[in-house]
Amino acid sequence: MISYLKYFYFTILFIYIYCQPIVSEDIYLGIPKEKYLVGDYSGSKVFKNRIGEGFMRPDVLIAFEKMVSAYEKDREAAKNSEKLVVKSAFRSNFDQKVIWEEKFTGKRKMKKSIESKKPEEIVSIILEYSSAPGTSRHHWGTDLDLNSFENSYFEKGGKGEFLYTWLQKNAKSFGFCQPYNELSERENKGYFLERWHWSYQPISSKLMEDWLELYKEKKITIKGKFLGSETMGEDLPLIYVTSINKTCKEN
Ligand SMILES: [Zn+2]
Repeated sequence: MISYLKYFYFTILFIYIYCQPIVSEDIYLGIPKEKYLVGDYSGSKVFKNRIGEGFMRPDVLIAFEKMVSAYEKDREAAKNSEKLVVKSAFRSNFDQKVIWEEKFTGKRKMKKSIESKKPEEIVSIILEYSSAPGTSRHHWGTDLDLNSFENSYFEKGGKGEFLYTWLQKNAKSFGFCQPYNELSERENKGYFLERWHWSYQPISSKLMEDWLELYKEKKITIKGKFLGSETMGEDLPLIYVTSINKTCKEN
């Protein structure tokens, strides 16, 4: 009887531990919070990657690999050819500043032309798909861009339709959510729909709360940090950081 009880308790304990979200003890991994939240550190020194793919937090990588294994089983059973691939993960403040300023100056082309546009108009075009340096979830090591930067890839008839349908059904059980879902579900605020962008919610929701706190305390500032920053004011960064799918905000 006693041994049965022991077995029972160990099984319950094992299930409890296994089902806990994977989160490192020190959420900031030894990096000052103010630097971490705005990507002012070297991700390749503290994060890990899958060979040839982007860097992410070690705890996020464990959760992600679990999700990949589950997806692989279903993908093989369905004889689907699209593997899960990380196209982009951690991006530093400097990386984001390069992307932003190349778009701002026209060096990097966007879907809409910036010709004869005012700085604030250019900024709002960039903000359709790109974050301002210091406001990107890619600074956190919790957010991943998967497979393709085209929404059509994931849509009905697209190569990634099976993958996207699978993610919508299963990603939540591995801790992942899609922050930039349909704009209409986010009061038409924030970045455009990004079917490729997924976030490890048990950590990113906490990081977002901390980001907001530091921003309100003016320990995180945007003005003067990159071209066009002065046109953003105080509210725009807040709107873009907070206008996400409500499933990514749950604690
Ligand atoms: Zn992204």
